Amino acid sequence: MADPSTSSTAALPRRHRRPTVRTLAAALLLCASGLAAAAETLALALDDLDRHGYASPRLAIERLQAVTDRPDVNAPVEQQLRYHATLAQLAVHGRHKAQLDTALAALQRLADGGRCAPCGPRLLAVRIAHADMHDQDELVKGLMDQLAALPPSSDLRFEAERLDMLSGARVRHEQYDAALSLGLRAVETAERAGLPALEARMLHALVRVHLPRGDLASALRVADECYALAERIGFRYAMAQARINQNYLYGTLEQEKKSHEALLDVLRITQGVPGTEDLQQLAQGNLSAYHIHRGEYPQAIAATQAAEQLARQTGDELGLAFAISNRGSALARSGRVDEGMALMRSAMTKAEQVGGRREVLDLLAEQVNVLEHAGRDREALAVLRRVVKLSGDITSAEREKAVLALQEQFSTERKTREIERLSLAHARAEAEQRQWIAVAVALLLSTALLVQWLRMTRRRNQALVVDNAALTSQSIHDPLTGAFNRRHFEQFMKRQDAGIGLVLLDIDHFKQINDTHGHLAGDEVLKAVAERLRGVVREQDAVVRWGGEEFVLALPGTSAEGLAVVAAKALSELGHAPVVCNGVAIPVRASAGAIAWPAWPAQDWAEALRVADALLYMSKTGGRNRATCCMGVRPGADVGRVNGDPASAAAAGDIELRVVSGPA
Ligand code: GH3
Ligand code: MG
Ligand code: MG
Repeated sequence: MADPSTSSTAALPRRHRRPTVRTLAAALLLCASGLAAAAETLALALDDLDRHGYASPRLAIERLQAVTDRPDVNAPVEQQLRYHATLAQLAVHGRHKAQLDTALAALQRLADGGRCAPCGPRLLAVRIAHADMHDQDELVKGLMDQLAALPPSSDLRFEAERLDMLSGARVRHEQYDAALSLGLRAVETAERAGLPALEARMLHALVRVHLPRGDLASALRVADECYALAERIGFRYAMAQARINQNYLYGTLEQEKKSHEALLDVLRITQGVPGTEDLQQLAQGNLSAYHIHRGEYPQAIAATQAAEQLARQTGDELGLAFAISNRGSALARSGRVDEGMALMRSAMTKAEQVGGRREVLDLLAEQVNVLEHAGRDREALAVLRRVVKLSGDITSAEREKAVLALQEQFSTERKTREIERLSLAHARAEAEQRQWIAVAVALLLSTALLVQWLRMTRRRNQALVVDNAALTSQSIHDPLTGAFNRRHFEQFMKRQDAGIGLVLLDIDHFKQINDTHGHLAGDEVLKAVAERLRGVVREQDAVVRWGGEEFVLALPGTSAEGLAVVAAKALSELGHAPVVCNGVAIPVRASAGAIAWPAWPAQDWAEALRVADALLYMSKTGGRNRATCCMGVRPGADVGRVNGDPASAAAAGDIELRVVSGPA
């Protein structure tokens, strides 16, 4: 799993702490939670969890189970529902399978009882989570369609959870734009519901949307926001999760100090807290990588031992293999090469049994690094051959996909050329070079579950790509459509000192175009759309490919009135004639949201785009082929509502909307 915070494991304070201290702290904590539970009613406990979250899902579950008025089968149905649904959510958050089974059975019973209308949807959501935890992908898919088909729920707590799940499903299908807009709506819904702990969880989930789409800056911004909120309300588990994400992100951005601080914070926050072993293990694993990187081998070994102990405790076999391999790496690098390599090989064997090819590749790659470091070139080469062979076994499709994904990811902060150099065409070069390039591709392919592997990948990468001069030219265009890319848009926005009109536009039923005419035809449509949009705007404007089939028009100096005109023109240009592809006429329509930025003083442009996104959504739900334009915001309007729910802001007279239609 790419998400650093849900993968892997557990615990332990840093080594110099004496174990007794930890035991004591844990005992006190348990005792305190026991005391709290003794005097507590369900209503109080639920309310407190909503406001302040929890130190770990496991502790929250124990707390709920210990309330004085735990609802039995005769309790009012709503009470039972709330109780079991909360337990289910906690079980999902902490990945506690058995607990989820129990909650699922209880909800099934309630739904079967027939006296509870909201039980059905809740049950559906929990069944999805359950199927997901058991890797039943097909079942998840079918149930998810049902969840998507539900009308929005007036229960905002459930609605936020639902949007979050739908967002997660889009991430899995690599539909990042849809995932993002759903994720944002989930956050906004939780905020609107006045449920800060829920909002913190939704923010955490949003990081996981930004990550795979390669938008590290947004991921970091959201992780920061998540941490700040969690800290404000005392939601310790969410604090630790946010810190793990920050650790990963800063590591990726090569801000070592901040990355390290975040790690230490994870360990501090989770110290002695039962149910946070997975986070602790992850942190210790990353800590060991940090110390290996700095040549601080004793500290590295201590961290790997802690990670190892935690992995054993939680039964995480793959985590165990990584921890052992890391210990071997640290030992070997500190001069005990044979001993270290023996450990690394035993870890490999373990990983081959329980892990996928990617993980095995990661571990092998690190063996190459270690052998190289020790000057054992012949052995390094032998392992290298295995790496090459294994990476060759990965199907070309998979490889291509990964390289494409990387291209996407790297084009923003690293340079497209770097990837081009590593492309498969290059792999056909001279024999020796071929080997190294295959290694580079293999290393790039590894999904970098843990920061250390990502780091090593990048270091290797840098070592291979010697020609730095080639990296200085950064691409500003999207390769498919020739429109500007996001990176350029950000630069573009930075240069603006006056107002700027923004139109966010999304092709209608584009998936259907792909499905009916094929992906290549879909690509042609995207090119034509970009072309037509360029015909609508002026020289000084920018047409930006925002994501898959989403475009942004950035129009300096364009006011709301002008914007509505441009939006109408764009819709008409796109729709007036079909795009002809291989002799087939493909009709194209689009929906849009438009806003003149800044809509209020000090409005951030990202915020303006968020409003545009919500307006776009209104255009979609209103029947598509239209643009919803913000014509003005009343001075003193409730800005939070404008951001989160422009429809009700409009109803309340806070903003004036104008809808313009596309061609029939
Ligand atoms: P809606 O009207 O609600 O926007 O429906 P939609 O089908 O347009 O929206 P959805 O987000 O479900 O689907 C977008 C599709 O765009 C899914 C994705 O496979 C496709 N897509 C994204 N990028 C590309 C691309 O570069 N080329 C092609 N051919 N398709 C792409
Ligand atoms: Mg879309
Ligand atoms: Mg679309």
